[in-house]
Amino acid sequence: MNGMKPEVSHIRVADDCDCLVGKSLEELKELAIRMGEPAYRGAQMYAALYVERVAQIGRMTVLSAAMRRRLEESSRVGLPEIMRRHRSADGTVRYVLRCAADGGTPALGVTRDAVIETVFMPEEKRQTICISTQAGCAVNCQFCLTATLGLVRNLTSGEIVGQILVALEDNRASLKPQTNVVLMGQGEPLLNYEAVMAALGIILDAKGLGISPKHATLSTSGIIPGIDRLAKEKVRPKLAISLNASNDEQRDKIMPINRKYPIAKLMEACRNYPLRTWEHLTFEYVLLGGFNDSVEDARRVAKLAGNLCAKVNLIPWNPGELPYRPPDAERIEAFRKTLVEKGQRAFVRYSRGQDVMAACGQLALVESAARA
Ligand code: SF4
Repeated sequence: MNGMKPEVSHIRVADDCDCLVGKSLEELKELAIRMGEPAYRGAQMYAALYVERVAQIGRMTVLSAAMRRRLEESSRVGLPEIMRRHRSADGTVRYVLRCAADGGTPALGVTRDAVIETVFMPEEKRQTICISTQAGCAVNCQFCLTATLGLVRNLTSGEIVGQILVALEDNRASLKPQTNVVLMGQGEPLLNYEAVMAALGIILDAKGLGISPKHATLSTSGIIPGIDRLAKEKVRPKLAISLNASNDEQRDKIMPINRKYPIAKLMEACRNYPLRTWEHLTFEYVLLGGFNDSVEDARRVAKLAGNLCAKVNLIPWNPGELPYRPPDAERIEAFRKTLVEKGQRAFVRYSRGQDVMAACGQLALVESAARA
């Protein structure tokens, strides 16, 4: 070192990825320091990105004009781009988003653009945003249209957080005080663990997106090592298990992942999962007409979930180009009643946005007539 100050304008400030979205508070502070700025500038960037949802570096007026210029030379905010909005009659919006690969890094597997889906569901007092964690999915659940895409690639933490920012910003004028986030879009979150946890670090941070862990749910097809890992995290969302069958024979047929992680082992992982005082597990059960919707199935599900602090969400299957049929209304009600009689909390959840292919299991980049 010769004591001379480095030429800060020539420092490449983001050498793993040019995108600011997805960076943690610590990473942004380091970035500021590498630019020769004080660390608090990083905290200002963090607030600008995640609290104020500023989408362009040039508009981060909390930073000096000179810093903004230097930052623009090497970085970009990096939000996913809205390609299409499909608006449902019930107010749900299915976004088709492009995540650009430029600025990504082959080390993260980000070598090509990905097209993904995010669903925004407005309600009276809140909105729920369903986000994707991978482009496509490799898990191959037989009742889910996303499976037909195969796995395209993992999403980066920025692409995961960016979906929420885009959906909130696009609905800024009508936002309700509470936002719920569900990791139930394309992909299996626990097969993209690092990026998902990095994103959740920002999403659940009171100084970041500020979503309460009580209002965020990660849904898994039952990746046991991922569940065990999640159990050890200090900051984590609620956990939902996509069960969908009452025995292994049945589950093997519709969820090939069950051959690797069968029901007994999955239930053991659930029993070992450390629930917080306010928390319960959720079992999701897609009802496929004539396949897994009998009263006997309900009795077996009640037994499986019986000794756990859990509730069961029954989701009548949403039609798509797959060889299943939605369950009859009487069978849905008989299933729910059987669970309740066995002491199990159970609710029927009708998916929203079916008319624009935004409902559970329908995310497969399908075009629909209702566009905006
Ligand atoms: S249900 Fe989830 S895990 Fe299964 S194929 Fe669809 S996106 Fe993947």
